[in-house]
Amino acid sequence: MFAMLSSRPTVSPSSAELLDRASERCKAHGALLTPIRRDVLGLLYETENGLKAYDLLAKVKELRSNATPPTVYRALDFLIEQGLVHKIERINQFVACRHDSHRFPGLFMVCRRCGKVSELHDHALMAALTQSILRAGHELDCHELEISSICPDCRQAGQGTHGV
Ligand SMILES: [Zn+2]
Ligand SMILES: [Zn+2]
Repeated sequence: MFAMLSSRPTVSPSSAELLDRASERCKAHGALLTPIRRDVLGLLYETENGLKAYDLLAKVKELRSNATPPTVYRALDFLIEQGLVHKIERINQFVACRHDSHRFPGLFMVCRRCGKVSELHDHALMAALTQSILRAGHELDCHELEISSICPDCRQAGQGTHGV
């Protein structure tokens, strides 16, 4: 009965499974997925395109009324450090990483019109880019690459208004 009254956020079974995997991954690194970190990550797993810092704070507050921005930001820093969350600097948005590991940075398309974020999974492209940068004598040093784009929905909407 008490279990039913638990304040644990209700996440979908797939998110719960991801959270358990994330917890194992942290343990393997000698780190701990504390309840607040777990809540923040759970919210991001539930939101495919991620959340802006402001919206994330509001949602965390619904789960934990005593949560303050610094505690949420510290949890985010930890999750980014562990490779569990990507930060899209351009629009200050946080997206859960759904990969087991990253050999290459994530490539994110950020719609210039609606701000929607989608991750492009193109291993060959990222391998080529990494190599190309190495050939230029540099080493790629980022976890996320952001590209300004126009999403399918906005492209279609644009076509409707311009009649092309
Ligand atoms: Zn990722
Ligand atoms: Zn769009």
